[in-house]
Amino acid sequence: MSNTSAKVINLADRRAKKEDEARNAPITGWITWLYCPKCKSLEYSELEMPNGRVHKKCGNMVEEVEVQIDVRAEYTISLRNSKRLDELFKETKIPAFLKPLAKKGIGMLENLHAAEVEYRKRLENIVNGPVNPYPDEWDEKSLKMKLKTLDPLGLIHTEARQPNLHFPEVDPS
Ligand SMILES: [Zn+2]
Repeated sequence: MSNTSAKVINLADRRAKKEDEARNAPITGWITWLYCPKCKSLEYSELEMPNGRVHKKCGNMVEEVEVQIDVRAEYTISLRNSKRLDELFKETKIPAFLKPLAKKGIGMLENLHAAEVEYRKRLENIVNGPVNPYPDEWDEKSLKMKLKTLDPLGLIHTEARQPNLHFPEVDPS
């Protein structure tokens, strides 16, 4: 092998490594939780509004708490949640724990599924395009945060998706 081709390979290697690092780098973003003290409603937004905002429904100024996120981590976990939901849908033998409320159970799965799709759409809005998830071996426990597991389904919610952490005085129900 000549010196020149060795150099070329080296460059290609380095570029591949760089691309790989970029693919696996965290992407910082923010999710804002909005609480309307009048309607007692909680919702999240991916849009940053430095001058505050009013609740469309009632015109009241809402309280805001910004939560810093790693967009890629949120996206990866959401994809895994969807995968888990898909598996539950596919097991047409509805999981035993849902059987007594089979119909209600399916409706609940559909709502959860829609919530994941919506969340990922918001994350894509933050980066203005598609988000590459972390590789399969990435472990959400590396985030070192309070992850909430929605049992018995096994879905995982990061801190950004637990409004009660940000508005502890508000009853989310
Ligand atoms: Zn309101």
